[in-house]
Amino acid sequence: MSGQSPYVKVLDIEQTLAELQAMVDQLQQERSDLEIALTTAIEHGDAIESQLEMANRQLQSEVRERLAVERQLRDLVTTITQKSRDLEVVLQTITEHSDQIDLQWLGRYIEAEHTARIDSLTGLANRRKLDETIDSEWARARRSRQSLAMLVCDVDYFKNYNDLYGHQHGDLCLQQLAAILTAALRRDGDLAARYGGEEFVIVLPNTDACGARQLAEGLQEALRRAAIPHEASPYWQLTMSIGVAACIPDGSDPGTLFAEADRLLYLAKQRGRNQIALT
Ligand code: GH3
Ligand code: MG
Ligand code: MG
Repeated sequence: MSGQSPYVKVLDIEQTLAELQAMVDQLQQERSDLEIALTTAIEHGDAIESQLEMANRQLQSEVRERLAVERQLRDLVTTITQKSRDLEVVLQTITEHSDQIDLQWLGRYIEAEHTARIDSLTGLANRRKLDETIDSEWARARRSRQSLAMLVCDVDYFKNYNDLYGHQHGDLCLQQLAAILTAALRRDGDLAARYGGEEFVIVLPNTDACGARQLAEGLQEALRRAAIPHEASPYWQLTMSIGVAACIPDGSDPGTLFAEADRLLYLAKQRGRNQIALT
């Protein structure tokens, strides 16, 4: 190489320089590209960072909100649980009380319904119960085509009794009589009622005139044996007159049976009292 001419040497140097320049240019280009890439990356990084920051802030605020909602829900559940327990206690108390109230009310209602149908002096059924029974037994006997019987009983010379022994004794006497009437009944469906004053009615379902007469005779006998003194009566003891009627009900009014028994009672009175008059 040492034999090379200076001209060739210059050419080599120029070529080398050109190559170096090209390399420098390329490096500069690459550097510039890198700078651009770096700037872009930095810019993007900033954007991403700010987006991340924003997202983080949103997330934190959502978390805060969620925590607040959760707290509220927990409080609500606690309140509801407490209120539900309170309500259970209240409900149980109400139930227990309402049971008592219902039972008390029912008891009072039944008692009132019962009392409303009882004669306070004698303890027998009163007029109201009698009317209800006559209606229902009349309808039942009509359906089943069975005989229904009725006794209308009236104490003889009772005004004289009161006048002689006093009203209080008269009351006791009516109570004794009620006990005799009750004792004479044999079937569950039979009913003895105080019609009013010293007048009593006995209703005998599924009983014909013959059976009713037997019961009336039994009553007279029981009263005779009771021997309640009545010095203002021609019989010297308490007696009563009885009208006895019986029929298989038809389409007519239930009152017709009572009217017939009452008519027969009047007949027994007319015939001298202390006796039975039959259909
Ligand atoms: P008769 O033989 O015709 O039936 O004569 P009586 O005196 O029994 O009949 P009257 O209708 O003249 O008199 C009925 C009496 O019954 C009059 C009344 O003082 C009495 N009396 C009605 N209800 C009661 C009562 O609840 N207690 C008492 N002690 N007496 C009563
Ligand atoms: Mg009388
Ligand atoms: Mg009378």
